[in-house]
Amino acid sequence: MPNLKLIKKEEIIKGIFSFHFNNIDSLKWQAGQYLQLIIPHENADNRGVKRFFTISSAPFEKRITITTRIETKKSSTFKKILSELKAGDIIECSQPKGKFLVEDLSRKILFIAGGIGITPVRSILMDLQYKEKSFQADLLYANRDNNIAFKNELEEIGNSKNNFRIYYFIAPESICEEELDKIYNDYNDKIIYLSGPINMIKAIEEIFYKKGVSKENIRTDYFPGYD
Ligand SMILES: Cc1cc2nc3c(=O)[nH]c(=O)nc-3n(C[C@H](O)[C@H](O)[C@H](O)COP(=O)(O)OP(=O)(O)OC[C@H]3O[C@@H](n4cnc5c(N)ncnc54)[C@H](O)[C@@H]3O)c2cc1C
Repeated sequence: MPNLKLIKKEEIIKGIFSFHFNNIDSLKWQAGQYLQLIIPHENADNRGVKRFFTISSAPFEKRITITTRIETKKSSTFKKILSELKAGDIIECSQPKGKFLVEDLSRKILFIAGGIGITPVRSILMDLQYKEKSFQADLLYANRDNNIAFKNELEEIGNSKNNFRIYYFIAPESICEEELDKIYNDYNDKIIYLSGPINMIKAIEEIFYKKGVSKENIRTDYFPGYD
């Protein structure tokens, strides 16, 4: 199993933490991929000692970062043990994998992210920006409140590219058919990337299927464990 060494833990906004790891086994990954962290601990709850996390850093940043919500009062035992890691601690992980990848930049891209579902989108956009790729993308970003992860970085990309727009949906606003139709009148010219809590993503996926978007134009990353 490959190893990761914790460099530091950082609360990037209230309740959301990034864990930056030294990539000591030189794992290769593509922006948008995920891996599984394994942290054995005593009295693990029924969710166990392994968790999938998207790598929120882009490959050019070298270090492997995962970003997650930690609600101290009702955390799983895994999140508790994760948050107790100290700089220098070494943990095991899987090889990175996943198909939430942006490959065809000739198509318009529509990212839809719910909450911490922004992690693969952050990695992909930072990667495209670093490689100075030209792309046409919108991000519809739903969040429970105005504490928005990676807001500044994403907006910097938006400011430097006039072909990238961000729309925020702060609860009680949500991304529904009516809101989508206010922005778009054609969905078939896009590749759609959906990432976030399972129920949210399934509901939005259904809207696109109803509109006749074909499965091959939709990529999904479902995050279990979030409402
Ligand atoms: C491909 C993939 C990529 C992912 N990427 C990310 C990512 O980038 N960031 C990320 O944060 N997550 C990501 N996830 C989800 C992640 O794996 C966890 O499922 C999620 O973070 C919830 O973690 P947790 O189970 O430790 O619960 P916690 O986050 O600790 O708790 C979440 C909620 O579950 C409830 N809960 C906690 N413990 C229990 C329990 N034992 N029984 C019942 N309910 C409980 C709590 O009330 C809390 O509200 C990804 C998942 C997949 C499959």
